[in-house]
Amino acid sequence: MLVKCFTVGSIQANCYIVTDEKTLDCAVIDPGAESNTIMNYLEENRLKCRFILLTHGHFDHTGAVEEIQKQTGAVICINSMDIARKPFELAYKYKLPRCGATFISEGDTLRVGSLSIDVLETPGHSEGGVTFRCDGALFTGDTLFRDSIGRTDFPGCSYKSMMSSLRKLYNLKGDYEVYPGHMEPTSLERERRCNYFIQDAIRSE
Ligand SMILES: [Zn+2]
Repeated sequence: MLVKCFTVGSIQANCYIVTDEKTLDCAVIDPGAESNTIMNYLEENRLKCRFILLTHGHFDHTGAVEEIQKQTGAVICINSMDIARKPFELAYKYKLPRCGATFISEGDTLRVGSLSIDVLETPGHSEGGVTFRCDGALFTGDTLFRDSIGRTDFPGCSYKSMMSSLRKLYNLKGDYEVYPGHMEPTSLERERRCNYFIQDAIRSE
């Protein structure tokens, strides 16, 4: 598995491209902006984009979805709670194409070449927030950051759900590379030891 990160857009969100180097199949996670940069990378490396995976529906993670979908024909995957429910209605608000979107939920597995990407529901920052797990890596969106977590003060956020999502990640077996939606990568073990919010979640169980 090869992971390439582009930090894109005005809010500097991380877009990840996860590739099976053997087959050159790939998934683009959270293309928030700068579709040209992302498309150039796909084309230069002759990658076959199978999925556009969204950790959640906020605009800084979805801004380039439409353009990349148009150019690659990839299947858009998002949890239904982040597309249809008020007050988000992201399909309308952020121009996420409704057609072709596949709704993903806990336990789903997506195949990208020989890679398997599991869906873990991790709401809190948004109702439909998910984490993608693949080959020793977690793509946590705005759930878990290095030393921090995503905001829980927007409409649709829930600190209580965030706490149980953090417990879920804490309780995964073993260590993982953590690729968050903003800022630099970290490891799950490091966050178990150093992240105040994870410790708060464990304390408040
Ligand atoms: Zn967000």
